[in-house]
Amino acid sequence: MTYSLAIHGGAGTILKSLMTPEREAAFHAGLARALMAGEEVLRDGGLALDAVVASVSVLEDDPLFNAGRGAVFTSNGEQEMDAAVMEGQTRKAGAVAGVCGPRNPVQLARAIMQRTEHVMLIGPNALDIARAEGLALEDKHYFFTQTRWDALQETLKLRAEGKEPDDPARRHGTVGAVARDVRGTLAAATSTGGMTAKAPGRVGDTPVIGAGTFADNDTCAVSCTGHGEVFIRWNAAAEIAARMRYAHETLQQAADHIVHTVLAPNDGSGGLVAIDRDGNVTMPFNSPGMYRGVVSSQAKAETFIF
Ligand code: ASP
Repeated sequence: MTYSLAIHGGAGTILKSLMTPEREAAFHAGLARALMAGEEVLRDGGLALDAVVASVSVLEDDPLFNAGRGAVFTSNGEQEMDAAVMEGQTRKAGAVAGVCGPRNPVQLARAIMQRTEHVMLIGPNALDIARAEGLALEDKHYFFTQTRWDALQETLKLRAEGKEPDDPARRHGTVGAVARDVRGTLAAATSTGGMTAKAPGRVGDTPVIGAGTFADNDTCAVSCTGHGEVFIRWNAAAEIAARMRYAHETLQQAADHIVHTVLAPNDGSGGLVAIDRDGNVTMPFNSPGMYRGVVSSQAKAETFIF
């Protein structure tokens, strides 16, 4: 019985020209820790759903990545986080949007899936579920990082000058994971602070099932990162599953087509990690890089940036 796990830390990669060896090492270490947490669940025969939540929780806790602690700021200086999970056997899903409080928004998404009859919750009731579930809640200071704050100021300045930032590290981020457990069940989880200087109340693709997050045992599980509006309009994640189901494409063919032929020409910079029912993994991106990693019962953990 085999298992596989793939993760991403966003396509908002620091440009190679601006990367230092120390920063690069820190990103690789963060990704490796997340792989380890998810693999531990899978190795013990645990559920794909719990593995992806474990990996994403580690990335949320790491201020280097744009999710949980270290989330980017909205144009009015707040942090609003989105997250989702989906399980491929039952096609149950849970999602939360625009929250600030739960240390691990992905765990709230799982609680919404498991404890309510709904798929997506926003607002105070979403936080009530977090409290009822006993999830850790944090105040605003916990989520603050100077780097993200500076990125907001820089973005607002460029905007005031009528320019949009072209540095992808300033535009994007998000973390996610997909897994296949020893039973052959697939799951996906994604969590994000969204895009720097987004409008208050803006919701990206991450919590939209079928756009940024999707899992279906017959085809694949997908977690996306990139320009959320475009991923929503092209229904990115579910479209990969549809191409496999109806056009009988392989996972790699379907994912490559969406990332390079559909999203890229339509201002949809970004990428995704995806896994099929046989445990094959693909991690395409059309941006300068994407923090990512993969591990399976047959292969040691590997992490990549560019
Ligand atoms: N997709 C996320 C969003 O639009 C951001 C990202 O992945 O970079 O909210």
